[in-house]
Amino acid sequence: DELISQIAAGEVVERPASVVRELVDNALDAGATQISVRLSAGGVRLITVEDDGSGIPQDELHVALRRHATSKIMNLNELETVATMGFRGEALAAIAAVSDMALLSRPAAQENAYALDARSGVLRPVARSPGTTVEVKELFFSTPARRKFLKTDATELAHCIESVRRHALARPDVGFAVWHEGRLVEQWRATFVPGQGDSRDALARRLSDVLGADFVAQSVALQHRAGPVTVTGRAGLPDTARARADHQYCYVNGRFVRDKVLSHAARSAYEDLLHGHKQPVYALYVEIDPARVDVNVHPTKIEVRFRDSREVHQAVRHALENALAVPRA
Ligand code: ADP
Ligand code: MG
Repeated sequence: DELISQIAAGEVVERPASVVRELVDNALDAGATQISVRLSAGGVRLITVEDDGSGIPQDELHVALRRHATSKIMNLNELETVATMGFRGEALAAIAAVSDMALLSRPAAQENAYALDARSGVLRPVARSPGTTVEVKELFFSTPARRKFLKTDATELAHCIESVRRHALARPDVGFAVWHEGRLVEQWRATFVPGQGDSRDALARRLSDVLGADFVAQSVALQHRAGPVTVTGRAGLPDTARARADHQYCYVNGRFVRDKVLSHAARSAYEDLLHGHKQPVYALYVEIDPARVDVNVHPTKIEVRFRDSREVHQAVRHALENALAVPRA
């Protein structure tokens, strides 16, 4: 059983940044408005993710660590329309299998917070404001072979920050902070209060905070709807293209994805505008009827499968072509 959980963990947890991704997903699913990520030694020695979300009741802390335990979907039908980031119930179990993990949590209605040590199973009352903190120490300490594949602390830290950046670009209504060795290295304040102000302005402000004011100044807004597909976001003007494809962010129903259909569609919209092997810069947000996309393709949920990839390809391509035509006129 130990072996099986280690193997399963390998599919979800590749490096500290994978832990950060899963824990921030969970914090967002819990309705957090502020998420703090604290790291030590690039996240290898310590990752803590603290949120102000709904918390885990004392009597459910043990269950949360169990494999295939999810509170987010009840049956297969719900998998068709899953609206949360998580649904496989694997992440906490996988992370606990390859680290020294503790869960500290308090739902607002519970008087005390409780801390559960995953290894010993010991539960004790602690002081905490409502929300959850997950502490992950000594990642891969029991699997030295995996630990050997990790890069320098600086590289692992960069991947962790990138992981938070991907979430931050999808959720301008949530504040994010990243600390490394006790120093604040990134902070993105919420730019939007739901129900107040314009969410498009809020996204532009978040994009400016995360990708730089230059990106926003030298990009155009996307707004395109074709049947069940809506595409929004911003696309960099052709002369902002870079040598590397490191600033291409694609989201499907709020989830960061790597997807050939989307990147190919973007590529083809820019085709005649770019020279050489330059890579465009963009943040694309695709909203689509959840029944038309399968998010349960890969354990990390970074890949998706569209029911009709042509309809998505066309929508993205047209969204970009329409927007990029503006400065050409
Ligand atoms: P999944 O997210 O797929 O449900 P996880 O293993 O990531 O599976 O988490 C297991 C369960 O633990 C979740 O379904 C949720 O009930 C609970 N949980 C985990 N993290 C948090 C959190 N930060 N706040 C509230 N509940 C959480
Ligand atoms: Mg999860």
